Amino acid sequence: MPGDGVRRVVIAGGGTAGWMTASYLKAAFGERVDVTLVESAKVGTIGVGEATFSTVRHFFDYLGLVESEWMPECNATYKLGIRFENWREAGHHFYHPFERLRVVDGFPLTDWWLAGGPSSRFDADCFVIPALCEALSSPRHLDGRLFESDLIEGSGRVYRTTLAEQTTQFPYAYHLDAALLAEYLTRYATRRGARRVVDDITNVSLDQRGWIEHIDTREHGPITGDLFIDCTGFRGLLINGAMDMPFESYQDSLPNDRAVALRVPAAGRHSDMRPCTTATAQEAGWIWTIPLFGRNGTGYVYAGDYCTPDQAEKTLREFVGPAADDAEANHIRMRIGRNRESWYHNCVAIGLASGFVEPLESTGIFFIQHAIEQLVKHFPGADWDPAVRRSYNNTVARCMDGVREFLVLHYKGAKRADNDYWRDAKTRVIPDGLAERLEQWQTKLPDTESVFPYYHGFEPYSYVCMLLGLGGIPVRPPQAVRQMPERRTLDEFAFIRRQGAELVASLPSQRDYLASLRGSV
Ligand code: FAD
Repeated sequence: MPGDGVRRVVIAGGGTAGWMTASYLKAAFGERVDVTLVESAKVGTIGVGEATFSTVRHFFDYLGLVESEWMPECNATYKLGIRFENWREAGHHFYHPFERLRVVDGFPLTDWWLAGGPSSRFDADCFVIPALCEALSSPRHLDGRLFESDLIEGSGRVYRTTLAEQTTQFPYAYHLDAALLAEYLTRYATRRGARRVVDDITNVSLDQRGWIEHIDTREHGPITGDLFIDCTGFRGLLINGAMDMPFESYQDSLPNDRAVALRVPAAGRHSDMRPCTTATAQEAGWIWTIPLFGRNGTGYVYAGDYCTPDQAEKTLREFVGPAADDAEANHIRMRIGRNRESWYHNCVAIGLASGFVEPLESTGIFFIQHAIEQLVKHFPGADWDPAVRRSYNNTVARCMDGVREFLVLHYKGAKRADNDYWRDAKTRVIPDGLAERLEQWQTKLPDTESVFPYYHGFEPYSYVCMLLGLGGIPVRPPQAVRQMPERRTLDEFAFIRRQGAELVASLPSQRDYLASLRGSV
């Protein structure tokens, strides 16, 4: 191995994780790192995973990709947040918007709202994005200007950003066709010198220390490297299969372990292209609706202990209606949890091979992006310093543990308790630390001091939105806002209403904006 560090990287698996990793490494290191990616033509990719969250823009920025180029290629749409339906009670909905929470006189607007908001809808009172979602608006004007351009894009600087620089909430993410994204990134990475091998990995050879020496393939023989990245999905062929890394399940606190998915052509009432993901609570889980350009991705995530695959498929088909009649159902078993260590010796697992919570809040691609960024920040030198590996493992594990907590809050906090599934959600084991935090949040809404203390992608305002929207945990405003004059906040609530209405009137629909983007490529 050359003295200056790792040069030969072998990636096993070519799903979203594999190709995102190959592309990012090429963008970061160029010719200085050789990348070989092996993917099977027989073992398919997971085939779902179509909603992202707002940090993903840093990934595209880093690769130097612009929306007008990659969005049409991936049938992508905008996602301004998540609309939760029926989590509190039938017929109720609220949004978790990707929007900065405003602060008035030192207190977040949601504190003021709790003390006496103008309506029963915290989301519509405190944010403009719910209005845009309901009006099916694009977050960009036809000339490309972002609706929040004064906040985010005023500087005019172009630079390569990473998660670390995301200091304010960016107002949108994307929905995208994951298979098209993988194809797009295949072209990106191979054009920059990544070698693509289409073959089956038949064996993983370890040396006497237990490090990976090479992987064997059916037709291309052994493939050697310095660093091996396991992107083989839930099977974790290298990290769990060959290296025996224990997998720590989250299932005691997050019981959903199955999903059934359908790809539905967009027509009639299915062609709305609402600029948000919809998560509709069901008897034993929830159904996602993800509008892409030309079709909708939809699926029922459920707990196998409460619902059979047949029941789940029936529920999903009834939910979608006749538009799904010709669509084939994709039944998936999910491995919920994470590896005890995602980097072991010279093997790093990324994507589903590393860990997964469940699709709620769309964190799969975020975990991939986070892991790749951290791998580059912790890239191993020739000495394979164990301290570097430890730091990487801690960062990646905490990120997933933090998301686990946030998702547990969704079930624990949902007011709905109309059957065993939802009642059990209130008494299930919760991660260490969350019980204390939940207690604290009842008297003081979550802030930076009181949420999971390590980076996990979610900001305190997201916790606030979930607590206020789910409605199952009583919360109250700080005493101070009850004693302060409320005139300024009333102005702010009125301003938000006005701003929302003006934006709805001036922004094009997402359909028109995306069509114009397609016309311009
Ligand atoms: P896979 O897609 O499973 O890819 C595995 C790769 O390994 C394939 O290329 C396969 O050919 C290869 N392979 C396996 N065995 C071999 C072998 N022996 N030889 C050679 N190659 C091999 N994430 C989000 O961000 N948003 C979402 O909305 C979202 N929804 C989801 C819904 C569900 C139901 C599930 C299960 C996941 C969802 N995810 C979501 C997660 C997301 O799908 C994954 O993070 C993403 O697709 C990455 O998958 P992957 O590349 O790790 O694995």
